[in-house]
Amino acid sequence: MKKVYVNELKNHLGEEITFSGFVDVVRDKKWVQFVILRDSTGKVQMTVEKEPAENASMVEQVTALTHDSVIKITAKVVENEAVKLGGLELIPSNIEVLSKAEELPFDYNNLDGVNLDTRLDYRWLDLRNEKNMLIRQVETALTQGMREFLYANNFTEIHTPKLIGAASESGSEVFEVKYFDRKAYLAQSPQFYKQMAIAAGMDKVFEVGPVFRAENSNTNRHSTEFTGFDLEFAHIDSYEDVMSLEEDLLIAGLTKVKEKYGDKIKELFGIEVIIPTKPFPRMALKDLYQKFHDKYGFDIPTEDVGDMNAEAEKLTFKLAQEEFNSEFMFITDYAATKRPFYHMRDENGKLQGYDLIWRGTEITSGAQREHRYEELLKNAQEKGLGEDVKFYLQFFKYGCPPHGGFGIGLDRLTMLLLGLPSLKETEFIFRGPNRLEP
Ligand code: ATP
Repeated sequence: MKKVYVNELKNHLGEEITFSGFVDVVRDKKWVQFVILRDSTGKVQMTVEKEPAENASMVEQVTALTHDSVIKITAKVVENEAVKLGGLELIPSNIEVLSKAEELPFDYNNLDGVNLDTRLDYRWLDLRNEKNMLIRQVETALTQGMREFLYANNFTEIHTPKLIGAASESGSEVFEVKYFDRKAYLAQSPQFYKQMAIAAGMDKVFEVGPVFRAENSNTNRHSTEFTGFDLEFAHIDSYEDVMSLEEDLLIAGLTKVKEKYGDKIKELFGIEVIIPTKPFPRMALKDLYQKFHDKYGFDIPTEDVGDMNAEAEKLTFKLAQEEFNSEFMFITDYAATKRPFYHMRDENGKLQGYDLIWRGTEITSGAQREHRYEELLKNAQEKGLGEDVKFYLQFFKYGCPPHGGFGIGLDRLTMLLLGLPSLKETEFIFRGPNRLEP
């Protein structure tokens, strides 16, 4: 018999079913034993009466059960208004222990005071925590909402290689790997291949996939491997089109999260899912600097002029809230020297791109891309990128429509959405300079 999940039990009232799951709690009373069982959809009570005598062997089994063992039962689903968990209980006729759990190294229901590294060492136990389980479901809904929006708009999903032959692109560090008798690198973004799809005439493409960055930084928002939600589309007039699409995409993702998990997020995280409205405020970098100076007495350090730093991102959130009642803000007009060579510049050298800041952290870089071969070559040479991007430059030699796109850090999006302290708690399995296990 197929296992029935907790959230399906109400459709089986009065029936005999098979159920399997973790042992959450055992309450051994004088006349009766209550065992709370758990699967990924919820919890249910199993009830074993100590009388009649034919229950004796089941009673013995329950007495020996350890917390988080996995059992399989054959049971009748019985309505019982007195039971808090869904007003029903399971009355077993047979119990089988599938996996006996040893004593757990910490109580995942109460993670206060548990060292974060210990939690990560035992991540599969840490994930049993109800809030951690919800993080995964929320991220699923977020990607579902965004994916559905893209399918409805005729985007094609692509899967670009993560093993690449040349270290390249922007300044970000890449991981080198041994590749038979030569070197290869782990892709630090799908950028070049998204654009290859555009040159191939695919018009609208996206990818949700791993991104590798050899960044030896221990901030709350950097990991060495994260999930990028990247897209690129053709026949745009300007990067305004790209920002507009990103607004729609984020609204679609957040709406799905609110619909599916809004109440649960409020209950467990105490956070309201806010759906932003279009258009998000936009501000040019030099105007932002001026505002920082006038309002907060903050001046960007010389080495960051033309760009942002962590402090500037925090203040951007403050400003967005105070002046626009918005949690999001697009920042434009970064210095071309601070951005990759493939971002388009206009005839005055003004960069045709943006970053999107949400709740004080950058979540996206986007731009219209340079699709004209000669210009692109010039920009690459200016950055001293010769041989490494030669293969990429070829994509633009045989016809390529104007296009643009962006890359969202999915992990950062989830972290900010749920108000989590860092990517360590957010990512399914975190990777950082000091963490390669489990
Ligand atoms: P930052 O300046 O914050 O390091 P970046 O400018 O290097 O980010 P991009 O190369 O534009 O980032 O990457 C696109 C998006 O990917 C970023 O906006 C961010 O959301 C996410 N991202 C970048 N680096 C990391 C990282 N190390 N860990 C997690 N997410 C990241």
